[in-house]
Amino acid sequence: MNFELTPEQIELQESIRAFAQAEIAPKAEELDRVGEFPTDLFRRVGEMGVMSIPFDPQYGGMGLGVFDTVLAIEELARADQSLAVSTMVSIATGLTVQRFGTEEQKRTWLPDIVSGRKICSIAGTEPDAGSDTGGFKTRATQLENGQWSLTGEKAFITNAGTDLSSFTLILAVSSERDAPKKQFTLFLTPNDAPGYTRGAKYRKMGWKSSDTRPLHLDDCQLGEEHIVGGKHGGRWVLHKGYQAARLFLAACSLGLAQASLDLAIGYAKERQAFGGSLGRLQLIQEMIAKMALKVDSARLVTYRAAWQVDAGKEDLMALSMAKLHATETGSEVANLAIQVHGGFGFMDECPASRYLRDNRICTIGDGSSQIQTLLIARECGLDVSFN
Ligand SMILES: Cc1cc2nc3c(=O)[nH]c(=O)nc-3n(C[C@H](O)[C@H](O)[C@H](O)COP(=O)(O)OP(=O)(O)OC[C@H]3O[C@@H](n4cnc5c(N)ncnc54)[C@H](O)[C@@H]3O)c2cc1C
Repeated sequence: MNFELTPEQIELQESIRAFAQAEIAPKAEELDRVGEFPTDLFRRVGEMGVMSIPFDPQYGGMGLGVFDTVLAIEELARADQSLAVSTMVSIATGLTVQRFGTEEQKRTWLPDIVSGRKICSIAGTEPDAGSDTGGFKTRATQLENGQWSLTGEKAFITNAGTDLSSFTLILAVSSERDAPKKQFTLFLTPNDAPGYTRGAKYRKMGWKSSDTRPLHLDDCQLGEEHIVGGKHGGRWVLHKGYQAARLFLAACSLGLAQASLDLAIGYAKERQAFGGSLGRLQLIQEMIAKMALKVDSARLVTYRAAWQVDAGKEDLMALSMAKLHATETGSEVANLAIQVHGGFGFMDECPASRYLRDNRICTIGDGSSQIQTLLIARECGLDVSFN
């Protein structure tokens, strides 16, 4: 077993780290305060080639793997998890089109996503159903002229309302109302499609500069050429998209956990208490050691799951373990970083308080910790029911 990164991976990691620390980290506090999607900074992420890492060269990509993408997202999140999330949602959505879209869809929509000139989103969640994907109600009805008409509501969708937003993959029920089995189709919905509107952005606890909105579909008419993954094949395709996002979200929490650890170590060395540095107190040392252990174990499970995907050995248990462990670690380590900082940790000026707010959604989105736990139990051979 080889735990070493290749020289190319080290180079990629170091270049993204240098960029993220120089251009993103110094702006993270202001981005959190202002709460607007940073269009110019996202374009810079694109210019740095981050968006292009896992895409085919024929669409402008670098043709690298999911593992390389995880390394890059981790570095972005170490500087600002909110921007890392916007980036990873667009990559995961683009990868869904690359894997399941038609050649025409790929040629039309991917180059702008891969270059970072545009951003895209994927919409499953609805006001009445999130984890329960079978409970989605947005309906796609095929009209006599062959067009599809979409009507319904989506909730909490990332990236759909920015200046750079290009399209959203929208999941809708496509079977007849009285069909014995509910079936779903995924539609590539351009931003300017008639009948498709984006609501006002939510006020949120964290991820303030990442765009999150409800979407409304009112007789939004789309042709067959907008279907991704075939008629009635949408739920499976959405789950595959969510699985990629799950791994990238683990990387987001991993980067944030590393930033929390770095911050706590720096403060423990610098802060004076009881006649010496805080870091010489054994209970502070215990917290730092615990954080270091958690970050390292989260990195191991995340990297292993990413490596498996690239090696064609995708393992659902390993994916769920990475998502569950890394995202829970992000919250635990950010919380400990606040503890090390004492009262200052509670202040908005202390990055650790932002880290805790930002990471809070990571144990909920893209399959919550409860759902990942059930998936792991199912892979252990237990009789797990989602009903
Ligand atoms: C900032 C933000 C961005 C998001 N971006 C997107 C996006 O881009 N695209 C998208 O489609 N969605 C997005 N979401 C939605 C997110 O994926 C959902 O919130 C998440 O899947 C949980 O669904 P829910 O909110 O409906 O909660 P519910 O599914 O109602 O769950 C409520 C609680 O019940 C638990 N629970 C649910 N089912 C079970 C079960 N069987 N057993 C035990 N416990 C269970 C859950 O873990 C949770 O604790 C986003 C959400 C937020 C807040």
